[in-house]
Amino acid sequence: MQTVLSLNNVSKSYGSIQALKNVSFEVPEGAVFGLLGPNGSGKTTMLSIILDILKADTGSFEWFGKPGSPETRKKIGSLLETPNFYHYLSAVDNLKITQAINGRGNNESIDQALGQVKLLERKKNKFSSFSLGMKQRLAIGAALLGNPDVLLFDEPTNGLDPVGIAEIRELIKELSKQGKPLLWLVIC
Ligand code: ADP
Ligand code: MG
Repeated sequence: MQTVLSLNNVSKSYGSIQALKNVSFEVPEGAVFGLLGPNGSGKTTMLSIILDILKADTGSFEWFGKPGSPETRKKIGSLLETPNFYHYLSAVDNLKITQAINGRGNNESIDQALGQVKLLERKKNKFSSFSLGMKQRLAIGAALLGNPDVLLFDEPTNGLDPVGIAEIRELIKELSKQGKPLLWLVIC
């Protein structure tokens, strides 16, 4: 089985705070891969490094056997902590903006993504009129745009009530049965 992601002795400090110390692991292709850790254990820092948002102090990582590049970055859909959407715009207009920024997919893929997260019927409604669970589903839809090979979710159930948490978990399970992406990395 292909190794999709590998980290090799990655370390990162913020001043005197060491967030990551010699982190190494490999994630093979397939299914849903979870990474668990308490608050402050460096999960978001790790995710930011493999998404090229932050630079590691030492160590390296590879996607599909190659160092990170804008090209590999395009194959990765991500949901980082609190999603940023415009409150006064509709779901579909928000995804148009996401798409313009990440350069993946087209108008058809917006409807496809909205369908996948069960928001197609609400696509013209303003973001501000959505429940927390719907907002989070829209954020998942944004990550799904243009059919990425890999999805990275950082605490996708953060801030939701128990019903909302169950709903998002069920959605991830359902979507992961559809075959693509090759890898889901879910951080909790
Ligand atoms: P997690 O996502 O597992 O909760 P983080 O990666 O957010 O952990 O944080 C790991 C550690 O790094 C924590 O001690 C946190 O306070 C610290 N940290 C994270 N981001 C910054 C930053 N921008 N400046 C200073 N310290 C930070
Ligand atoms: Mg975090």
